[in-house]
Formats: sequence, structure tokens, C-alpha cells
Amino acid sequence: MAAAKKICKLTLEFCQFSSPVGFIKVSSCPIGLHEMSMETNLSDENFVPNALNDVLVVRVKEQDLSTIMKVCYKWLQQYFRDVKQISKVPRPDICALKQETKAFRAQVWQILADTVGPGEVITYGALASRLNNPGAVRAVGSAMRNNPTGIIVPCHRVVRSNDMGLYHGGKRQSVKLWLLKHEGVDKY
Ligand SMILES: [Zn+2]
Repeated sequence: MAAAKKICKLTLEFCQFSSPVGFIKVSSCPIGLHEMSMETNLSDENFVPNALNDVLVVRVKEQDLSTIMKVCYKWLQQYFRDVKQISKVPRPDICALKQETKAFRAQVWQILADTVGPGEVITYGALASRLNNPGAVRAVGSAMRNNPTGIIVPCHRVVRSNDMGLYHGGKRQSVKLWLLKHEGVDKY
């Protein structure tokens, strides 16, 4: 998950949360999230899920978080505690989805986040078709590789027709599997 090309000039704030899949780094401007990503060096070689199925904010008191980070914190807690009920808590806004709405990749991120929920998976091709652009499978793949806000834009739910597909270029297959199992997908 690469950082988005910066089209927003607003000041960013940074936060770190501990989670069952390790530390999650979040950056945000007042409009919305810029990044939600797992530790840079996380890979199949070192992934050890934390048995504590909860999320804690690191080094900051919850009451000192900004409004958007509080929303993010609540969303992450719900995701890891009881993902089936995730639609009951507000999803934090994502800056890129507010600012680059015409970009194809932003449309991919939006429709994925809006229409593919926990327990579901979708193929690259089906996602392209959902955007009325069935030929855009490669562009969908590119949007997934460049997704700056993982988990919340659930690129882990995008699979290939014959297998689970790659996560983080194939370096985090066990993480993808963990997320899918956590959400109730058992077929991989
Ligand atoms: Zn922004």
C-alpha cells in the first residue's frame, strides 16, 4: 500500500494504534484519512497475530485525539472486536475520496468500501464490472496496489477467480488470510 500522491496541502496529524495485526499507522488532515497502513516491514516471515482482539492508541490519551482520529479509533475497535457490526459505527472520511472523486482509482476505492462488506470477497473483474468498466481489470489492480488506506478500503477482500490473490505484492498472504478469516471467509 503506497502513499497517495499528495493533492491535499492541509496539515497532517499522525497516530499509531496497536491491533491484532500489529501497529497500524494512521495519518489524517481535517478532511479525512490520508493513510492507514500496517508496519512497513510486516511480512509472512514475521507476522504473529496478537491474541488480544482489541485496539489501543499508542502514546496519546484517547481524549486528546482529534475528532477524525476518535472516529478512526472507534471504527478500528469495532473492526477487531466485532466486525459483523462494523456498519453500526461511522466510517472515517478519506481525504482522497473527498478530493479526487473523478479519478478512476478513487472510484474503485469508494465502491469497494461501500459495497463489499465483511464476509464478502470480490474478484478484480467483478469490481471492474461494478464500475461499468469490465475491461479495467489492470486499473483495478493498480488501484489496489496504491490503496493508501488499507482495511478501511478493504483491498484484502479483492481476490482472483481461482485463488486468494496477492496482498502487498505477495509478502503478506498470512495477513490477508487472517483478515478474511476474521471476517468469516473460510474458503482459502
Ligand atoms: Zn487531506
